[in-house]
Amino acid sequence: MGKVGWIDSHAHIAYQEYQKDLSQIIDRAIERNVSRIMIVTLSETETKRALQLNKRYGMFDVAFGFHPSDLDTIPENGFKLLEDFLKEGKLSAVGEIGLDYYWHKDNKEEQKSIFIRQIDLANQYGVPIIVHMRDAAQDTLEILRNHKPVKGGIMHCYSGSVEMAFEYIKCGMYISLGGPVTFKNAHVPKDVAKAVNIERLLIETDCPYLTPHPFRGKRNEPAMVELVGVEVARLREIEPEKLMEVLSQNYSGLFEIE
Ligand SMILES: [Zn+2]
Repeated sequence: MGKVGWIDSHAHIAYQEYQKDLSQIIDRAIERNVSRIMIVTLSETETKRALQLNKRYGMFDVAFGFHPSDLDTIPENGFKLLEDFLKEGKLSAVGEIGLDYYWHKDNKEEQKSIFIRQIDLANQYGVPIIVHMRDAAQDTLEILRNHKPVKGGIMHCYSGSVEMAFEYIKCGMYISLGGPVTFKNAHVPKDVAKAVNIERLLIETDCPYLTPHPFRGKRNEPAMVELVGVEVARLREIEPEKLMEVLSQNYSGLFEIE
């Protein structure tokens, strides 16, 4: 198993906006006991950047996939690109992929077929998936049941119900909580944090979005995953160190880190 520390299971630090002060961002993360970060990339440029970064720091995993809100911008050679990265063993996961009916209700069938196609690729190359799901709980569940992710995966920044969380877990998924669990009125994520079996939990920042309390409005970054962890530990009435240990095990188990 990898080093014990806070693990940010979803961070977009390959975005252009982070590049000017990235070394300080990493320093701050290490200072806050962050031991590993999953960089989720949305393009070839970002994927290459993330792989390059990992050569320097050795504390990153890289996921690449086509986000359901970005289907119009998938390049013509998109699936070949994705498959080439997988073939070369460069990706730890395919993601983020999934369904988003909040932003797009008019292309549900296309979203579904591109989601399924990417699950098939993940299964073919033996890696987990990272799922983005918004206002599409039932369709996402049906797809995961009928196209089971062989290596499992993560429901990222999970915003669904407790009941559905258990259904996704049955499909091999982990439930990852982000900044919203720290918001005062976010009752549902708090309930999920308490209810889900601890062996199936992960945490994340989804930075630059969804900055945890009390820094809402500021740019999010991996160092802030600690705030998510401390709140989840409080809700579960365990020591943050204990939670850190279990989540490190969960992540190592999912991504087969020795
Ligand atoms: Zn994301």
